[in-house]
Parts: sequence; structure tokens; C-alpha cells
Amino acid sequence: MSTLRPKNWVFLIPEDAAATLILYAPLHKIAVRVSPQAGNLLVPILDGRQEDVTDSPQKDELMGFLASNKLLELPKGWAPDQSSAGKGKAKITMSLTNKCNLRCIYCYAKTGMDYTTMTWEVAKDAIDRVILEAVQNGEKKFGITFHGGGEATVELKFLQKCAVYIQEQAHVCDLKPYLGMVTNATLITTPVAVWMGEHFSNVTVSFDGLEEVQDYQRPDSRGKGTFVRVTRGIQNLMEVGIKPSIRATVTDFGVNRMADFVEYLAKEVFPKGGLIHFEPMSLCGRAADNELTTDPQAYMENYLKAKEVGKKVGMEVTCSFDTFGHEKKHFCGANRSTMFCVSPHGLVSACSRVTKPTDDGAELFFYARHNGQSGGFDVDPEAVNKIVAQGNLPENPCVSCFARWNCQGHCPIARYAYHEHREQSCIIIQELLKSAIITELDKNL
Ligand code: SF4
Ligand code: SF4
Repeated sequence: MSTLRPKNWVFLIPEDAAATLILYAPLHKIAVRVSPQAGNLLVPILDGRQEDVTDSPQKDELMGFLASNKLLELPKGWAPDQSSAGKGKAKITMSLTNKCNLRCIYCYAKTGMDYTTMTWEVAKDAIDRVILEAVQNGEKKFGITFHGGGEATVELKFLQKCAVYIQEQAHVCDLKPYLGMVTNATLITTPVAVWMGEHFSNVTVSFDGLEEVQDYQRPDSRGKGTFVRVTRGIQNLMEVGIKPSIRATVTDFGVNRMADFVEYLAKEVFPKGGLIHFEPMSLCGRAADNELTTDPQAYMENYLKAKEVGKKVGMEVTCSFDTFGHEKKHFCGANRSTMFCVSPHGLVSACSRVTKPTDDGAELFFYARHNGQSGGFDVDPEAVNKIVAQGNLPENPCVSCFARWNCQGHCPIARYAYHEHREQSCIIIQELLKSAIITELDKNL
């Protein structure tokens, strides 16, 4: 990374069909079409070898354009930052249990094999830790998200005990707690929703599609469909003022119904508008066992269609692969080991997907464990170093990729453990980004 040159933040992308190139500088918010002749001159200039280019009026014009837009300098604040490793904000993820009442056909956690629930000692110490961190950082708030492994509402009493303790301790320390949950929503009855309305500010519901898609992809542990229960759970949340965002996993089975699902949500669930994330299935866990697939081309076409429909019906349609305008330094907290995800076994992972010692990536992403004697968590600095080393943007193929500032190598665990998924991800990310850049350019024609 010390050898960054303009070519690492200014990219030349060949435009399909047209004989033009696109000069794309995401950190400078610039995208313009350039001729192939200008492109030939730009390649050595961006590589820091402008003296190799023969002097000409065209070279002067290009140098003037690059200088006036400050394209030969990396904008302030974007230099690679090595200082934040292992230091997170006052936020944690608690994976309360590996129990789940569903058996999704692609489940990364392969629920139904491990029924561990966190002990109260681990939960209490995790809560105390994040509160102490907020106090020490001089923050006024802290965040806890219940997510990963299994379904937190399966252990409702335990979840409620945690919430009571969080509120009490927040009050003692004069802090505001922000509680979030990722849930399958099937167990959110009216009383549960009322309780959640009093404690949770942010809820995401995993909900894959219209009835035939949801029932096929996300059956319960007895093989029964869950569409009716999920929609009821969402209605219950809406009635207490919680508007959840939806997270849908896309497989080849449901890929052609994405736009229909958006229309359905707008009409039946979120008449005042809502948010849905469509993520292509990760090729891991039960998805790998069941040899499921998501065709990247079909995913992209249907995602773009769903997005168009969303604009018409007031639904925001997004996904982590749709990165235009979302430049970032890291993809997630797993890059710098800044996430603190406490597993039911009392282990701490940098990735919310790793919740069991048998999970893909467990050998890398676990970096701390609960200490029953001292009542805290012992962090292994060597393990943190390994996570950070893996989290650095790989030279090949990412450093010269035009999507690098938008994508930042995408999901670190996919890069580490799901190679096939990662290759498909690159196709989707690059194509969606290119399509968004071309759409922006065409708007200004
Ligand atoms: S590594 Fe991937 S799955 Fe894990 S927290 Fe980051 S984005 Fe999520
Ligand atoms: S993961 Fe793929 S799309 Fe993302 S920066 Fe790397 S090469 Fe580019």
C-alpha cells in the first residue's frame, strides 16, 4: 500500500460497445468519458511516469485536467490507516443462542446441530464490557445487536433478562442504549412486539420472498412454510411503531421473483415505503451441502429490475454489492478486528457469522474468550494480528480493481473461506458499479 500511485485511485474502465473509456475517480467523485487516444496517454501518467509521454498539447490538456481536479493526489483521510486495529466503538453483537426454529436450506450456521445458549455470566460480562468501553471513550451511547448463530427470540426469557440488565446499567452510567436485532420474526407475537417496541430501535427481518419462495427457502424445523408467520410478525412490529428493514437471500429458486416481492411489500406491508436488502446466497454451510447456486447474471438483471420497481412503488432496494457512491475504508469490522461478536460458547469473533468452533473461518476469526474467573474477556493479540493481516486489501486482484474503494475486497470471511462465492461476488460488484457509473454519465448527456 506504500506504493500507491494515481492509478490506485483513478481508473480507466473500458465501456462496452462504445469505443470509449471511462475515467473513474470515486474518491474525487469524478466520472467522465475519455477517448482511447487520451486513455493511451493517461496510462503512463497515472502510473507516475508522465516523463515517458512525449510533450504535446493533448498531454498539457490532460495534465491540466488532472491537476485542476486534484486527481494526482489521494484525497485527505483516505491514506491506509493502520492505527485502528482491534479498537471498536462501543458496540457489540451478541449471538445469544445457536438454537433456531427454522431450517433455511442455505443456512450458513447449519442450525439444528448445536443447541448451545450463552450463560448469564457471559452475557452479563459482555454487557458490562461494552458499557465500560462507552464510559471510558466518553461516549453518551452504546449499541448491542442480537444477531447470528440462531434465533434470539427462541430464548425470549433470556433475551428479556439481558434487556432489563442493559437498561438498568445504562441508567446507572447515564448512557443511552441502542438495541438492534436480526430476526426471522416468526415468534414475534403481539406481546413480544409490544415488549420489543419498548426496547429496540432497529430490527431487521430475514424474509426471502413471496409465499412459494419463503416457504421453500425458509421452512421451520418441521418442514412447514413460514410466510404467514413472518408477515404476521412484521405486522405486529409495525403496530407498535417498529418498521423493520427486510433482508432477503436470493437463490436461483427465487431470483426471478425479486421485483414481484418488492411490489408485494409496497402494497401489503410497507404502504408508506420501506427498505429491502437483496443479498445473493453465500456458498457456505447448508448451501454448499445442498449444492445450491445463485446465477450472478440472473441476480444482477433481477436486482436492477427490482430496484426500478422499488423507485416506482416507494421501496428502497439495495444490497452490499451495489456500491456506487458508497466509498469506504473497510468493508466491515472484520477487516480490522474491530467487531466484538460474542458467541454462545463465550468466544469472541470478529465476524458475526462465526459463532461455533466448527464454523467455517472459526480458526481465524475467534480472537478472545470469556474468562470465567476474572469475569472479563481475554483478547489474544496474535489472533487480532492474523485477522488484520487477512483483512488487508489483497494486492491481487483488488489493488488495481476499479471497484476497490467501493468494495474494499467485500466480505472478509467470503474472501477467506468461500472462494467460489467470492469470484461470483467480484462479477456482480464490478458489473453493478459499472452500470451505475454509465447511468450517471448518461443522465448528464
Ligand atoms: S466478514 Fe462478512 S459475514 Fe462477517 S461480519 Fe463482515 S460482512 Fe458480515
Ligand atoms: S473483491 Fe473483487 S470487486 Fe472487490 S475490490 Fe477485490 S477484485 Fe474488485
